[in-house]
Amino acid sequence: MKFCGLCDQPIQDGEENTTHDKPSASGAGTAVYRHVALCKRVPTQTAQASPRH
Ligand SMILES: [Zn+2]
Repeated sequence: MKFCGLCDQPIQDGEENTTHDKPSASGAGTAVYRHVALCKRVPTQTAQASPRH
């Protein structure tokens, strides 16, 4: 099973997808798959709310 590197959803068999080589500094690069159709990027859960007093 491939997973889309953009939306983090599984890419079904037969579903169009593209392969991106993701070079890694620590060794061998890994292949990243992406849907051909536009998909939603996973929202990053970055807590930017820094309480100020
Ligand atoms: Zn996707």
